[in-house]
Amino acid sequence: MVARDRTEIAVIGAGVVGLAIALELVEAGHEVVLVDPAAPGMGASYGNAGTIAGYAVSPVGTPEVLRSLPSLMFSHTSPLAIRHRALPSLMPWLLRFLLQSMPKPAMHNAQAIAALLSGAGERWDNLALQVAGAGILQRRGCLYLYESPQAYAAAGAEMTKRRALGVEVDLIGPDRLAELEPSLPHGMAGAAFFSDATFLDDPGRMMRLIVAAVLPKARLVEARAERLTRGPDGAVVEGPGLHLHARRVVIAAGAHSRALARAAGDRIPLDTERGYHVEWDMAKPLLSRPACPASRGFYFCPMAGRLRVAGTVELGGLTLPPSPHRVRKLVEGARAFFPDLPEPDRDWMGFRPSLPDSLPVIGPSTGGDEVIHAFGHGHLGVTLAPVTARIVADLVAGKKPAIDIRPYRPDRF
Ligand SMILES: Cc1cc2nc3c(=O)[nH]c(=O)nc-3n(C[C@H](O)[C@H](O)[C@H](O)COP(=O)(O)OP(=O)(O)OC[C@H]3O[C@@H](n4cnc5c(N)ncnc54)[C@H](O)[C@@H]3O)c2cc1C
Repeated sequence: MVARDRTEIAVIGAGVVGLAIALELVEAGHEVVLVDPAAPGMGASYGNAGTIAGYAVSPVGTPEVLRSLPSLMFSHTSPLAIRHRALPSLMPWLLRFLLQSMPKPAMHNAQAIAALLSGAGERWDNLALQVAGAGILQRRGCLYLYESPQAYAAAGAEMTKRRALGVEVDLIGPDRLAELEPSLPHGMAGAAFFSDATFLDDPGRMMRLIVAAVLPKARLVEARAERLTRGPDGAVVEGPGLHLHARRVVIAAGAHSRALARAAGDRIPLDTERGYHVEWDMAKPLLSRPACPASRGFYFCPMAGRLRVAGTVELGGLTLPPSPHRVRKLVEGARAFFPDLPEPDRDWMGFRPSLPDSLPVIGPSTGGDEVIHAFGHGHLGVTLAPVTARIVADLVAGKKPAIDIRPYRPDRF
């Protein structure tokens, strides 16, 4: 018989989103229990590229992406792969993704992403200070690299759209790029430089600092939430070894949130874009800021004591094992820039929680506000965690969030 437990607020999932929410809530004086069967902060929130990407206002699905689908499907260097075994279950998500890539929805999605991103950098500055992690938050900007003159020319139009959505960016030529990053090979056509962007040079360490700030004030229950039922005074979360009654439940289990949201009454087309990283231990990690060769869909990320190369998208669901082929592709991609790189010291695969419109689900469940959703941040979960936490804290306090949250509502599909 499982012991019955009670709390004011249960936060399901202790990734960066759940942790940031828990921190906001305990600081506001709430009683919080975090529920996670795994080590906090060690899912996607550990293995990412670490960029606080206020500049990433473009959704994944755009008319340009639709036009490049043939080359994305078949090119040798494509950042996209689809696991054929997962294709049948992916079909509904893919169809929605295609619809969301049409000009009108894509523009709407870009505006809704930009609204969330507008305060993201500042919120991260505050969070880093709050958890004594300011030394991990680096202020050297981020780069998109263009390898051909055609790609560099095409970037002009893309950056004009981003500027219209509030992004500060400079297009720089090869000489300025070589000044910024002398180890890059010669022959780059140019780059987009987001000079005010920040990045975490050790996302795993930042997660541990947030955990250290949360856990003296919240409890962590190591258990998987498998069922959620509403009761007279809140909801009950259950799973093996877990029976937790909470007045409020926040679902923040990243890519694993779909079944819980369904139990709360919302059918959400959440799936995953799997991403990979490879790492080389080195004292000076070749570059001084994250740099993304735009056509290859990965970042070179200078991390403390290592170079991490992170990114690409594999549509393959939550259960298939990692693909060694995708790891090889990342290594080959990195060696196209730095041919002397030896075999990597380690590799990793993680689950981006992704909606077809690249927007998260944030807000009360349609069945009632004792359940609040906070998941589906796709490529931007690290960046948007503190913004999401602020919105959830406002909802819990019965205040209107500063950002209009209607674009992120659970019943938008
Ligand atoms: C290669 C790669 C690069 C990326 N780069 C960036 C970047 O540069 N910038 C950026 O902003 N974002 C980036 N992202 C995206 C970002 O990492 C994710 O959006 C973010 O980590 C999602 O955080 P989360 O807390 O929602 O999910 P997660 O970190 O996955 O955490 C979810 C937690 O829920 C727990 N859980 C799951 N099921 C249950 C259950 N049933 N009960 C209880 N707990 C459960 C899990 O154990 C886990 O701890 C990248 C992602 C990848 C894969």
